Amino acid sequence: MIQISSYLYEKGLVPGKSGNISIRYKKDEYERIAVTPSRLSLKSLVEKDIVIVDMDENKIYGDNKTPTSELLMHLKIYKARKDINAIVHTHSPIATGFAFAGEKIERIEGFGPIKDQFIPYVDYYDPGSVELAEAVSKGLEKTDVVILKEHGIVSIGKNLDEASLLSEFIEESAKTQFVKKVLMANRL
Ligand SMILES: [Zn+2]
Repeated sequence: MIQISSYLYEKGLVPGKSGNISIRYKKDEYERIAVTPSRLSLKSLVEKDIVIVDMDENKIYGDNKTPTSELLMHLKIYKARKDINAIVHTHSPIATGFAFAGEKIERIEGFGPIKDQFIPYVDYYDPGSVELAEAVSKGLEKTDVVILKEHGIVSIGKNLDEASLLSEFIEESAKTQFVKKVLMANRL
């Protein structure tokens, strides 16, 4: 989690204190979620910053840290998708620009893990709200990445590598499309 956090930060996908990531694992038959804390940049995350919770939001480990304000969204996604064990939520600038403009991000050939032709949208709800958590988990029932309208991106995977790669692909895909749009607009 520490490695992936700094990777996402270095790549510019989680600027400032934005973004949060989590993994699911089993401890004595119980499902546990390790999640990044609120109000802390992913830039220089250390082990004691990580919060461990159970599936009912009870904190098991994490001293005086509070889990990300999007914890409920993470838990609802894990409940909806038994087949995945990692979630990455970013506000990566270019893809988020598309999310604010309501522009579709299209799958580009060579961007491996992206399956849908257009990345599906989830309607706007307040960050951290139950409504957003429900809408995102529903949106991810049949796909591995969604754009949150006027907010950011959520990608999921069997492990953190998969989920973070997907969020990177989305940002790169948005960049390529942005360049394409600018160049084509200049042709007119
Ligand atoms: Zn967010």
